[in-house]
Amino acid sequence: MTEPLALSQYGWNDSVADRFARNAAELQPARVLSERRGSYALVTADGEIDGSVSGRFRYDAMSAEDFPAVGDWVGVELGEAGASAIIRAVLPRQTQFARPARGDLPGARVVAANVDVVLVVSGLDHDFNLRRLERFMTLAWSSGAEPVIVLNKADLCEDVAGRLADVASIAPGVPIRVLSARDGTGIESLTPLLESGKTIALLGSSGVGKSTLVNALLGWDRQLTKDVREDDARGRHTTTNRELLVMPSGALLIDNPGIRSVGVWDADEGLDDAFADVQAFAAECRFNDCTHASEPGCAVRAAIARGDLAAERLASQQHLAREWAALARRVDPNARANERARWKAIHKSVRNHMKQKYEAGA
Ligand code: GDP
Ligand code: ZN
Repeated sequence: MTEPLALSQYGWNDSVADRFARNAAELQPARVLSERRGSYALVTADGEIDGSVSGRFRYDAMSAEDFPAVGDWVGVELGEAGASAIIRAVLPRQTQFARPARGDLPGARVVAANVDVVLVVSGLDHDFNLRRLERFMTLAWSSGAEPVIVLNKADLCEDVAGRLADVASIAPGVPIRVLSARDGTGIESLTPLLESGKTIALLGSSGVGKSTLVNALLGWDRQLTKDVREDDARGRHTTTNRELLVMPSGALLIDNPGIRSVGVWDADEGLDDAFADVQAFAAECRFNDCTHASEPGCAVRAAIARGDLAAERLASQQHLAREWAALARRVDPNARANERARWKAIHKSVRNHMKQKYEAGA
């Protein structure tokens, strides 16, 4: 298959081409730039076009997760010139950020797909909070994307070295960058991460400086431009409404309200990575299901007693695990998805049965 030129700018590479060939070879490839109430802005090898999912796709969808999201690679059918594209397939995702869905479908709603590098942003001001950073690291790990910690607002911090040591202690092995997004100091330390074709996203509490960093990385004021354009009420999908943007470096940036508000969701796998230090000790506990409370032979409590592990690390991990379990019980995507799949199968077989009956009788 020849490489679609316009798409290489949007991250098309051998791995995507391979997934495409195996899942949607008969369709045209496209990447989702934004989504608004079921209408998608897409980029194909020929340029940008609006699109929506086919009726068949909607019918077959069993979970909110099946629907295309910003960053997804999809297989489309292009209609007559000027007509919008029909999305028929979503390629398997390499990474994803999701949140509980609101609509009638069970499962999580994906808010960003195929993010390669996630910048976990924290402010070095009075809001700095290690426990909150652990929470975002858990989310970052559970997405599958490669996390990098960005400590912003260095200009407001008296003891950067101390903070760096604290952060390193809760995120062993994770790269950390210190910068000041507002005046641009240290921003160049991100350059090696912003490779052409790589997809980047930012995670972090409100107020840590994500918008400021986004503007610095893009080289233009996204929010300002967006407000002006929206006041103009020009078209549904103006360029500034795109949630997947090409940076001057050639890297791609996903920024949307959804990813800005993802919570601890489906983070069980992320927990093991975010708390790899706790897990390493836990592997040495005498009992496999040790809760590190009062069991004999608990290697985690021993590590805390020796000073090799901070008690707060264990407390954070347990807190996040409980929170996740409560959410999972409330939403239980698998149980509900299975239920829906079962009903669909029943409806389908009834329909086929009726069809056969009437066709035979006709
Ligand atoms: P967001 O909510 O994460 O998007 O945060 P914003 O980008 O809106 O920033 C929140 C506030 O922090 C704004 O007043 C910014 O001007 C300020 N800010 C962002 N980066 C820096 C920085 O590096 N240093 C200082 N002193 N303030 C910053
Ligand atoms: Zn234990």
